[in-house]
Amino acid sequence: MSLRHRLHATLTALFLSASTLLAAEPDRPEAPTPNAPRVILISIDGLHPDDLVRHAPPTLQRWQATGARAQWMTPVYPTLTFPNHYTLVTGRVPDRHGVVHNRMRDAELGPFRLSLRAAVSDGRWWDEAEPLWVTLRRQGLRSATLFWPGSEARIHGIRPDDWLPYAGDMPHEERVRRVLRWLDRPEARRPHLMTLYFSALDEAGHREGPDSPEAIAALADIDRALARLEAGLRRRGLFDAVDVVVVSDHGMARVDVANPRRLDERVVLHDDEVVSSGEAAGIAPRPGREAEVEAALLGRHEGYQCWRKADLPPAWRYGTHRRVPPIVCQADEGVYLTHAARQARGGTFSPGAHGYAPELPSMRAVFLARGPRVAEGVVLPPIEATDVHPFLLALLGLPPMAGDGNPAATAAARRGVSAPASAAGRNAGPSASPPSPAGAPRPGPSGTRTASPETRGR
Ligand SMILES: [Zn+2]
Repeated sequence: MSLRHRLHATLTALFLSASTLLAAEPDRPEAPTPNAPRVILISIDGLHPDDLVRHAPPTLQRWQATGARAQWMTPVYPTLTFPNHYTLVTGRVPDRHGVVHNRMRDAELGPFRLSLRAAVSDGRWWDEAEPLWVTLRRQGLRSATLFWPGSEARIHGIRPDDWLPYAGDMPHEERVRRVLRWLDRPEARRPHLMTLYFSALDEAGHREGPDSPEAIAALADIDRALARLEAGLRRRGLFDAVDVVVVSDHGMARVDVANPRRLDERVVLHDDEVVSSGEAAGIAPRPGREAEVEAALLGRHEGYQCWRKADLPPAWRYGTHRRVPPIVCQADEGVYLTHAARQARGGTFSPGAHGYAPELPSMRAVFLARGPRVAEGVVLPPIEATDVHPFLLALLGLPPMAGDGNPAATAAARRGVSAPASAAGRNAGPSASPPSPAGAPRPGPSGTRTASPETRGR
């Protein structure tokens, strides 16, 4: 039987068993199978694959040595926290899941910002895609989120079985303790998918710069929390029964703080016209001002470039969604892009930032996994953020869903699945080459290791 037929047969069987469960118990099966999969999905915000080599966090190194990883994972555009986290759990690019930026404006819903709790927890911002925890609920499985963008909203009317309002100050130890307590529940109430989120590395990288002593210390602290998670799993005899998947949402670049660029250097921009500012900015000119603003902004400038949303580089798969403002301006790597109103508010210069073009080496994210359903010692060629969702579905024993990712890209990372030679598709390339050597400089604003000319500078 060909792999495709075997896969099809397996999936059909899985689907039928899931349907049977649903038919028998429309709400939720009372007694899930004792060998039901358990997955802990961990996001370390701002973790770059080179961090794992250069700073050698022991727990993460041990996990990837006994599991699988991708050389790197390319984030989706824009390389910001919310759009990428929602892609990871939906398999869709932001144009097709609707969370197109950390800051948005919607004709009906008004403004969206991370600090607006009412917006963040309003399902209408998220309803265009189905996050994993909604899929699991529909399949009769349970989810618990220790923070994940979208988990505070009722999406398609459904929240994770357990979730918490975001509390950035919750100590790492407490986060780990809560996940372990979920695993101590009786089988019928034990989540199948758990998420765990750490922001400390991203915060230190913004504040002090990537590779700063503060960023290195933050990563070490997160790694110690993961060591406690491992110890807790081992005490329960679960370390080899639970699959752990570690991802990040983007990397971090050094910012040239001495040379900020002004979006409004050629035209006055009213504050309400700047829907989002910073590295990936969005401009919506007031009615009647479109021609003037376009004439000043469109095209290439020193340190940044602006496009009409329909003309963005195709590789970014971005610009068709109604929430993307009419003009998008992208800062070059390491450029701090600002405007008068932002400066007046006292916008601070951070020595570290993300939000730059996703194909830049500095923006690369991490994908690694270990556990009973994960192959050992596999290094995948680079994958994309959209490829993680099909991998998680497969680990959870769920049928594939239509999405923007390539299920074949991660197939070799699953135990017992051998990827056909051609399956890597667009990701085909030299495999299993090591990450950049320890001590190599992280790509920075000097322009070292910049991206391919096809997608840059257009
Ligand atoms: Zn982030």
